Amino acid sequence: MKSRALEDRLKKIKTEIEDALSRARRDPNDVTLVAVSKRFPEEVIEQALALGLRVFGENYVQEGGRKVKFFRGRCQDMTWHLIGHLQKNKAKSAIEYFDWIETVDSIELVKRLERVADGLNKDIQCLIQVNISMDPGKSGLHPQQVRPFFKTVRDEIQPKRVKIKGLMTIPQYSEDPCDSRKWYRELRELRDRLLDDFGDHFELCELSMGMSHDFKVAIEEGATFIRVGQALFGPRPT
Ligand SMILES: *Cc1c(COP(=O)(O)O)cnc(C)c1O
Repeated sequence: MKSRALEDRLKKIKTEIEDALSRARRDPNDVTLVAVSKRFPEEVIEQALALGLRVFGENYVQEGGRKVKFFRGRCQDMTWHLIGHLQKNKAKSAIEYFDWIETVDSIELVKRLERVADGLNKDIQCLIQVNISMDPGKSGLHPQQVRPFFKTVRDEIQPKRVKIKGLMTIPQYSEDPCDSRKWYRELRELRDRLLDDFGDHFELCELSMGMSHDFKVAIEEGATFIRVGQALFGPRPT
């Protein structure tokens, strides 16, 4: 069930992760590779499992849910991240199937997730999506909305089931990965400032940033989750 091509790409990515961590003088275990399996079939995920990968990212609740159900009886220690936009009416399925929701971007969604998670008796780990480059085509809070957001969550919602663990971003796309650096640095600095004010209430240890073309830069700027699809699995089926 092993795929030689996948094995080679994984080996290369692991080396690049290690090199980037060492350039940044960061701990070798500080980054989790989230294998973005959207649009890839279950067989490809099985090949990734055979190579030791356990953390997967999916964009859609329905597609991800199907895969989670498929693997539930087969592999116990998989972790699933929802990395696509979440509509409030899908909150229940999202919590049932995913371990992490990386795309929380409104107070209304936090309220809904808290209510649903409480009903299901389940904690849900969340990241707050920040539209750091204020790209009109992307969801996420604008940087100046982030502090008021945290203040409202802390003072008014006080969630128990929704565990806010950090920030996530998808910056404006550029061919040149160096262009991503300033956005990733800004996200980290924003997180550091949040810790000054809200660190007693939220851990905020995670930064989900970096994709196939720019994960090395993201690691140098402090990423703890990198979301890698095509560099790992090859071109996505359409
Ligand atoms: C698809 C996707 C990725 C992975 O993109 P690649 O370029 O294939 O690495 C990462 N993050 C999000 C939010 C995505 O939608």
